[in-house]
Amino acid sequence: MKVREQQSVAHEVLTFLQRQSLAPTPQNYAMGYVLKSGSNEALSKAVNDATDGGIRMSQQQADDIFMRCVGSLGGAGGAHATDALRNQTRHQLLRLAEVASSAAERTGDFNRDLSTGYEKLADKDAAGIGLIISDMIERSLRAEQDLAAAAREVEVLRQELDTARHDANLDALTGLPNRRALEAAMDRLQKGKLPHAVAICDVDHFKRVNDRYGHAVGDRVLKMVATSLVESCGGQLVGRWGGEEFLVVVQGHALDDTVELLDDARRALGQRAFKLRETDEPMGAITFSAGVALVNEGAEWSNALNSADAALYRAKAQGRNMVLRG
Ligand code: GH3
Ligand code: MG
Ligand code: MG
Repeated sequence: MKVREQQSVAHEVLTFLQRQSLAPTPQNYAMGYVLKSGSNEALSKAVNDATDGGIRMSQQQADDIFMRCVGSLGGAGGAHATDALRNQTRHQLLRLAEVASSAAERTGDFNRDLSTGYEKLADKDAAGIGLIISDMIERSLRAEQDLAAAAREVEVLRQELDTARHDANLDALTGLPNRRALEAAMDRLQKGKLPHAVAICDVDHFKRVNDRYGHAVGDRVLKMVATSLVESCGGQLVGRWGGEEFLVVVQGHALDDTVELLDDARRALGQRAFKLRETDEPMGAITFSAGVALVNEGAEWSNALNSADAALYRAKAQGRNMVLRG
């Protein structure tokens, strides 16, 4: 797409979000972008169904549709989401350029008026000069106000850009670093030749939670799993790899220590009492299985992740709720 087309899609997306009263979060924006680019039939149909007859879509419905048709920002469909974020940033930059050039235009107009005013001064009496000067003062004040307003808008845009940049690295549901942030962190460790271990944790039978209690409860469970992992793996990098999978990156640890850390985290999660918020009904234990592998100095983290993944697969096959080394 050319910049102009992208700008117009970005505009349509923002209008769509406004009409639906959806906040312009990265996920909503990504959904709108995929919708307006017409590249995902399932998503277009789901949105049409949800908004049939001019009905507004709830945030919950938007989340469900996004999850079903695109996947998490960090997971499947990440390319779309990344594309959307890039376009959001480009759109904001274009607006910034517009603000700057219109401020410059106004200053130019004022300078031209000043010059013509000066020429007119030559053949005016005192009263005429007074009028011209008061007109100039008024224009100067207006220009100053316009510039101050432009500066405020620039500040708002700067903050929006900061937020977008920050959000681009965070998972919208759990607030944890997302896949992009995890990959960047592992790239940095690999580049610095710093040995580290990776653990991939996958919630056991998570589909059953969704099937039994619904997607919204499933989401709450994922948030709790995230909190529990962060609490148990204190100080280490914990992120959402995608779906119901989390990654823990453990620096400067031997494999045995990492397995032990993850096993403690597994036990801690298993001991948490999950209850339905609405009825207080206990939901039974939520557990995860994990595979752990070491990224040796100078080695590729992706190899270690493959071997952690293989260990996770074995853990699932051997009955789940266990941590195995790759
Ligand atoms: P296993 O023990 O073999 O891992 O079984 P499982 O049911 O956890 O595995 P499976 O991969 O079959 O199912 C994962 C499910 O997680 C499917 C998908 O709908 C759900 N899921 C992925 N992301 C989210 C999310 O953000 N929210 C909710 N509620 N569900 C999600
Ligand atoms: Mg899984
Ligand atoms: Mg699972």
